[in-house]
Amino acid sequence: MCGIVAYVGQKEALPIIIKGLKRLEYRGYDSAGVALIDQEGLNVYKKKGKVSELENHLTDKGTLSSTIGIGHTRWATHGEPNDVNAHPHYSSNEKFAMIHNGIIENYDVLKTDLKNKGYVFQSDTDSEVFMKFIEDIHKNNDCSLEEAVRLALHKVVGAYAIVIMNIEEPDTLIAARKGSPLVIGVGKGEYFLASDATPIIEYTNQVIYLDDYEIAVIRNGSLQIKTIENVETNPYINKLEMELEAIEKGGYEHFMLKEIYEQPRSIADCMRGRLDAKNGRLVLGGLRDYMNKFQNADRIIITACGTSWHAGLVAEYLFEEFARIPVEVEYASEFRYRNPVVNEKDFVIAISQSGETADTLAAIELAKSKGATIFGVCNVVGSSIARATHAGSYTHAGPEIGVASTKAFTAQISVLTMMALMLGYQRGTLTESKYVQLLNELEKIPSKVEETLQMNPHIEEISAEYKDARNFLYLGRGYNFPVALEGALKLKEISYIHAEGYPAAEMKHGPIALIDEEMPVVFIATKDNSYEKVVSNIQEVKARKGKIIAVVTEGDTTVKSMADHVLEIPDTAEAFVPLLSVIPLQILSYHIAVMRGCNVDQPRNLAKSVTVE
Ligand code: GLU
Repeated sequence: MCGIVAYVGQKEALPIIIKGLKRLEYRGYDSAGVALIDQEGLNVYKKKGKVSELENHLTDKGTLSSTIGIGHTRWATHGEPNDVNAHPHYSSNEKFAMIHNGIIENYDVLKTDLKNKGYVFQSDTDSEVFMKFIEDIHKNNDCSLEEAVRLALHKVVGAYAIVIMNIEEPDTLIAARKGSPLVIGVGKGEYFLASDATPIIEYTNQVIYLDDYEIAVIRNGSLQIKTIENVETNPYINKLEMELEAIEKGGYEHFMLKEIYEQPRSIADCMRGRLDAKNGRLVLGGLRDYMNKFQNADRIIITACGTSWHAGLVAEYLFEEFARIPVEVEYASEFRYRNPVVNEKDFVIAISQSGETADTLAAIELAKSKGATIFGVCNVVGSSIARATHAGSYTHAGPEIGVASTKAFTAQISVLTMMALMLGYQRGTLTESKYVQLLNELEKIPSKVEETLQMNPHIEEISAEYKDARNFLYLGRGYNFPVALEGALKLKEISYIHAEGYPAAEMKHGPIALIDEEMPVVFIATKDNSYEKVVSNIQEVKARKGKIIAVVTEGDTTVKSMADHVLEIPDTAEAFVPLLSVIPLQILSYHIAVMRGCNVDQPRNLAKSVTVE
């Protein structure tokens, strides 16, 4: 999820681009780069790290004067964060340079073809393949660059927002999008392009949102937009009314809320190129070389911390149900300090959003030294855990800025669910028909998450009622037990209200003593195997006058008649419920924290990446 900025007009492009990239740094900060055209030609400058590193790198380059330029701040998906993988990417003849935000799913096939034709690649990115693919079409068809882009877009599969410059047309920018955002700012004889409006707003409030499958050509001060079928469109110019501060968070008040709302998209991104329900296919590239070990493992050990540990608990239910391999879920900090029994028949899965969690890293080293196979599930590409493991799958959730994890959690569960389904199918513990049925259901999850998010205003009202509570209890069974733990963690970490999560049946062994009319109890009571039992637990709380907030399956009437508030989520396969049932709990904790005046994005004492032990 990179940030892109481009400018063409009469002003100096570089300061506009650098400033714009800084505003887009929330989208990624693995590397930054610019391309400019001056008397000496088309030059690319790029550097690993934040935009400030690029600025330092540019200081000894003298005055870089250009009225056209493109810039990029990267959140790596293909290839580790380093100087060569940074964008922009040149064509082989260095006449074109391109920036790209997105993922090209068929880059491997395209790359092999291009290599056979003699193309040499400097980087490991899918983006460089895309650039050279366009170059190849341009060369072979003897057509304009614009036409080559159009033809290439018919062949690439995946998501992109791109901007290309051409040394032979120093007044022209060509841009296109599908799946990744691109905004065009229309000034007086000048144009700005960016991933969101933040780099643009201080220069003009007139913007055009490029649609999927549209190509914009800005040439000699005028803009033309065509579809990839070559049909000219009449773009609608929007007037931006937002304050700069607000759009940095995409119009959301906090990053956490933005990230909660990004989940339909981040889960879809996580499944993109991996799940193909129509053809009954599920492929996790990272597992390819290790499938044998995975399938024949005596035991799966999952190690993680915090929210990632909760994702691990969900995975325990998934792996045992679908693949019938025993699973242990371990806090990394405990695992590493005892003397665990681990051997070469164990398959260890380490989960971490940042990929830098110190305890998880240490647990990996320990398990590795005992001969186990280690598989990483991380969000940050090229992170220490991604490098320390034998293999892994990225969650592709995009940068998570809010310290309380939301979209990374659901993306972790998405990866683990895909792993469990693949494993069950390969081992024959999951029948073909059940497998296909589950794949089809999994594909519907992003739209069901979208539906779930519509409860936000209702949850806000409930939050107002309970914002002053001193304690909260979260109860669930089966797949919803880890969700209860996660709901409680979300609330305590950002609102500082004491909250406990329990398996619903455990309530009778202690926590029930806490229940009185002051105690809100959140039940996750969806229609599943243990539904009847949870209903009994609700009765028990009700008898003691506790306040009941229940997450239920759409259309439920039993719990509705007992609870003080119900939050209905769409029906889905029991194993996929956590992907939906956690959403209202994230929203509840968010509103309560905001109402209590807490800093939801940066809660006290916490950090996004826990690199200390
Ligand atoms: N796939 C490209 C890369 O890894 C762009 C990344 C993105 O937009 O997230 O460089």
